[in-house]
Amino acid sequence: MKNVFLIKYGELAIKGKNRYVFENRLLETVRKNLKSLGEFKVQKEQGRLVAIPSDDNEIDVETVAEKLQRTFGIIGVSYGIRKEEISLESIKELALYHMKELCDERGSFTFKVETKRADKRFPMKSMEVSAAIGEFLLEELGENLTVNVRKPEVLLMVEIRNGVYVYSKTLPGAGGMPYGTNGKATLLLSGGIDSPVAGWMIAKRGVEIDAVYFHSPPYTSERAKDKVVELARKLAIYTGGIKVHVVNFTEIQTTIQKQCPINQLTIIMRRIMMEIAQRIADKNGSQALITGESIGQVASQTMHSLVVTDAAANRPVFRPLIGFDKYEIIKIAEKIDTFETSILPYEDCCTIFVPDHPETKPKLEYIEKSESKLTNLEEMILSSLESVEIINV
Ligand code: ATP
Ligand code: MG
Repeated sequence: MKNVFLIKYGELAIKGKNRYVFENRLLETVRKNLKSLGEFKVQKEQGRLVAIPSDDNEIDVETVAEKLQRTFGIIGVSYGIRKEEISLESIKELALYHMKELCDERGSFTFKVETKRADKRFPMKSMEVSAAIGEFLLEELGENLTVNVRKPEVLLMVEIRNGVYVYSKTLPGAGGMPYGTNGKATLLLSGGIDSPVAGWMIAKRGVEIDAVYFHSPPYTSERAKDKVVELARKLAIYTGGIKVHVVNFTEIQTTIQKQCPINQLTIIMRRIMMEIAQRIADKNGSQALITGESIGQVASQTMHSLVVTDAAANRPVFRPLIGFDKYEIIKIAEKIDTFETSILPYEDCCTIFVPDHPETKPKLEYIEKSESKLTNLEEMILSSLESVEIINV
């Protein structure tokens, strides 16, 4: 008998012919993610992945489960027991062992047995197995157990695959698609609440992400930068790692401030951010940009402003939060554990340079006119690209 993590994946089960690509990627990711947590044998098993620890004393079950719960592509994680030999006797042995443990933990309770038979060569039907195991458990542990088929306190799961499995608890996974199965995009990551959530949502769909942060020292402090790196680290728990590009934006920002009409500052700044981000994206083989914008949230995110910002992009810009209210965004930020970091009070470049009365209905031609008057814009962009600091988290 071996302890085992049963890993359930959702959507990729419907990927048809390409299914094995997704399964293999998930297998690789799980192996990589578990590496630092102990020695595991991770294998595919008819619609599931299973991770078998080599030495149960060397792992912390909760930490491993948590890591798996935060791996994209996984919809559920169960910790149970397994036997290689496929027979009713094996299932009985596992079921009794597992239920005895539960009796020690919780005393008396109601239960029901449910069986999944992936290996149809096993002669008994699922219902027959469930009935036989239920009966057997009542014989053995009858003083503690009562059957309740409608609303059991414990649902004992039996799975018959390349081995037999028994478990009774399934923890929810992050869902989505295995990381790295859907191209690459570049996230404009500020220190705020929104952009980390936006990045998480796109990464969840299997998209590999890089990040760009625009830093304006000395107006924005080292601590503001550290906060962004910390946010990237939180995202990296899900992605396995993120490359953060820190762009020095001071010269560009102060030049815009000196040379452009004050109500246009934010929108011009946003457009130049797009321009720099897409050049970085090109260097990294990244096909799209991601921002945390949401319609109407601030002046630079009115419909008019978004259209003018978007015109600076030469590729798709994903804005997964576009229709979300702030409280909905905060709920996700809390769930993925970025919220507490995002609300740390360090200044960001947009809030320092923000005008009192920003334009809410900018016109592209006026904005372009102002931009064309900026001295040495191209040189400034090139020099900001040359001095990019790369932090791998
Ligand atoms: P966030 O909470 O993500 O900071 P926000 O509500 O503060 O968003 P804005 O400051 O208007 O909104 O920024 C809109 C988007 O532009 C951000 O979600 C982010 O994608 C990008 N952005 C803004 N400032 C920066 C920055 N300094 N570095 C990188 N990206 C930025
Ligand atoms: Mg912001």
